[in-house]
Amino acid sequence: MTQLQLPIYLDHSATTPTDPRVVEAMIPYFTQSFGNAASRNHPFGWKAEEAVDYAREQVAKLINANPKEIIFTSGATEADNLGIKGVFEMYARKGNHIITCETEHSAVLDTCRALEKRGAEVTYLKVNGDGTINLEELKAAFTDKTILVCLMFANNEVGIIHPIKEIAAMAREHKALFMTDGTQAVGKVPVDVQELGIDIMAFTAHKLYGPKGVGALYVRRKNPRVKVTAQVDGGGHERGMRSGTLNVPGIVGFGKACEICMQEMESEAARLSKLRDKLETELLKIEESVVNGTVDSRLPHLSNISFKFVEGEGLMMGFNQEIGVSSGSACTSASLEPSYVLKAMGLDDELAHSSIRFSLGRNTTEEQIDYTIEKVSKAVQKMRDLSPLWEMHLDGIDISSIEWAEH
Ligand SMILES: *Cc1c(COP(=O)(O)O)cnc(C)c1O
Repeated sequence: MTQLQLPIYLDHSATTPTDPRVVEAMIPYFTQSFGNAASRNHPFGWKAEEAVDYAREQVAKLINANPKEIIFTSGATEADNLGIKGVFEMYARKGNHIITCETEHSAVLDTCRALEKRGAEVTYLKVNGDGTINLEELKAAFTDKTILVCLMFANNEVGIIHPIKEIAAMAREHKALFMTDGTQAVGKVPVDVQELGIDIMAFTAHKLYGPKGVGALYVRRKNPRVKVTAQVDGGGHERGMRSGTLNVPGIVGFGKACEICMQEMESEAARLSKLRDKLETELLKIEESVVNGTVDSRLPHLSNISFKFVEGEGLMMGFNQEIGVSSGSACTSASLEPSYVLKAMGLDDELAHSSIRFSLGRNTTEEQIDYTIEKVSKAVQKMRDLSPLWEMHLDGIDISSIEWAEH
């Protein structure tokens, strides 16, 4: 048996390691084949362009798109901005109403908020306690000014997967475009833009074992032909929708990462969901622990668990030298505000504060999971042993009924 290496990484929803096969594919494009893909007059440029074309095919294939429908960007944040702002500007004559949801990633929410200052009307759908949206509420939200529905494929904090096909059909019925932030789903679960009726989709390489700093926006070219207004002006790269010299090594890596996901996704999902279920089953044996988000429709590698009467940040300190997980979302964990996603799901501050997200990945082993189960269980026990709230709970006192002294 191999020695267990510490620390253990269980935060794959924040980022993934670049697969060594991806790095290997990228290396030549830093040195020998360093050309600018837009240089049309010599073999250096041709070689780079050829590599980009090949990667564009690999990326398109993973989501069943046409390579011409892939616009390379610097990542999903930029792609979300380009998709939403690009539609808002391009379809301004048709309307100004956008429908999104309270539990979207900040790249979507903050973009929508920025557009509200420029005259957009935005509906932020609420979610149920399990993180799902109410399709009737979505249906009721459409107006004759609705140009875009933007709902994420899978949530980054709790892993739930929205009914994309139904949502897309509803948008189409109301003559609105359907955009999804596919960042957490692409490469992990099947995503077929044709089958699902997706018009626009943002995703990124570094969440699917590719390099950081490269992503894409899928923009449908047929039935309907969708156009977005460029947000970065310049040399007219990417069919005028995103100027700037292409990140050739990054794009090559993105392509290779997509190809590997395509080949390994099915077996990986089966392997990881088994490990995730083991982790979850064991951690749920701890008293007063609950899974956040519906378990009926979610990513195979993620589990978000609240341990009542324990403060998540404090709990993490008990093992974060050895196990890398996240409480709330990595994007907001710089602050100690409880996660807005969990709050939108109706969790009170205390329960939201006691949540931990475990996200497994390609290098996760059963040995690591066993170690994590033991370590986290012990840490929860230790925190509770020190907690007067836990003692009161054991004495049958309803904590919510306590009136705390003002200070
Ligand atoms: C990580 C993430 C993003 C941001 O992606 P970057 O490539 O880091 O900009 C956007 N949306 C979701 C759902 C994410 O998980």
